[in-house]
Amino acid sequence: MIVAPLRQSTWNDVVEHVRLHSPDISRGWFTGLKPTDLSGGTLVITAANAPQVRYLNEHCQRAFAEAAQAATGRLIAVRFHTDNTVDETDALAFDAGHTPVQLTDDYLFSNFITGPCNRLAHAASVAVADKPGKAYNPLFVHGDVGLGKTHLLQAICHEIRQQNPVTNIVYISCETFTNHFLNAVERGALNQFRYWYRHADLLVIDDIQFLAERERSQEEFFHTFNTLYQSQRQIVLSADCSPVNIPSLEERLVSRFNSGLVALVDRPCLETRMAIVRAKMKLRCIEVPEEVIKIIATRIDSNVRELEGALAKLDLISQTRDGTIDAELAMTALGGSPLKPNVGIPSILNEVAVRFGLRLADLQGKKRTKSIAFPRQICMYLARELTTLSFGEIGGYFGGRDHTTVIHACRLIKERREQDAGLDAELQDLRMNLRNAS
Ligand code: ADP
Ligand code: MG
Repeated sequence: MIVAPLRQSTWNDVVEHVRLHSPDISRGWFTGLKPTDLSGGTLVITAANAPQVRYLNEHCQRAFAEAAQAATGRLIAVRFHTDNTVDETDALAFDAGHTPVQLTDDYLFSNFITGPCNRLAHAASVAVADKPGKAYNPLFVHGDVGLGKTHLLQAICHEIRQQNPVTNIVYISCETFTNHFLNAVERGALNQFRYWYRHADLLVIDDIQFLAERERSQEEFFHTFNTLYQSQRQIVLSADCSPVNIPSLEERLVSRFNSGLVALVDRPCLETRMAIVRAKMKLRCIEVPEEVIKIIATRIDSNVRELEGALAKLDLISQTRDGTIDAELAMTALGGSPLKPNVGIPSILNEVAVRFGLRLADLQGKKRTKSIAFPRQICMYLARELTTLSFGEIGGYFGGRDHTTVIHACRLIKERREQDAGLDAELQDLRMNLRNAS
């Protein structure tokens, strides 16, 4: 028979003492700790897993020793232990040579500017960081490059780590995941691999589209996903397109990715770009007149990463002057950056309407007959190619259609174009006309 080393009421006193005297290090999971041995003046406290033991060792030695002394009236040392059979050092050894969680310091929620383009993705990320495993699981963030996906993913990690330092966070790129996996297969170290990933409290994988075409990694990821999901651990993924559009991604993964929240980060509109320029200039302690902010945000309209590049360039040039940036300097400095041809939606609508013998009202209206829907989809596709408008903004020109409708249209036309040389030629012709006219 196993005899408890302390009476339950005495143990309760210990935990209560820690809670009262050291509220900052106390955690909800302390209720799961158990006193398992008291011999030679050392109280052994057993925790559920290795990360908890690590946390207890780093932060709680003293508080528990004091509490045990107060509750028993004896001089007692404490030691933390876990019965978890797979030794954490195995997993750590497995990870040796791989990168540990590396986060960029600036990728915080407080540095992230929101606008219509990213509001949903941002709000969902904040909610997930606030209630991991409970708000939306998985959270899937998708969008073109340079629009802030990695920033949001890392902000979630920062926030969760700050709120609960003992959380076992695994944040990696998809490439790293597949490399780990192949490596583990080669070395016969699949057990360690699985321990490592399936014991994460929070698994964040960036650019998951790289799972495409990698059957065995997909299979492994599927099981990792299920294990974490079933025990309500949070999963966050990003990709350059929505789950259904990741080429040759198994249907069962697509449906799992879709089962949580799928949020788009779209291109930022002019106002949001201006807000980003304003914020980034402030971070660099440069004062810039509104007029100049508008020039920068108007000229650099592709993505936020390029916007940052332009700001760095301006910053550098301004230092060689007197530290100021005026309109003239901004125009000269950014002069070399290519501007998209100035094609507007009205000209696209006109050109397509003439080509297909339709009225403008048809293209912008609600009718879904094929003879109208197809040219309308062509308009959306051309708008995405030739203007800098976001999916949402393009939808606005077509009777307030949703961004998903526009994404669907662009994908459909792209696919058909690849299979149909006639359509491809037609689109090239339309595009040339529009460019020449602009
Ligand atoms: P992605 O992963 O989508 O390619 P990143 O997250 O790497 O894009 O973003 C590119 C750069 O732009 C990063 O330096 C990031 O901090 C910045 N950035 C992107 N979106 C925003 C935003 N809304 N507010 C502030 N900075 C942003
Ligand atoms: Mg990224």
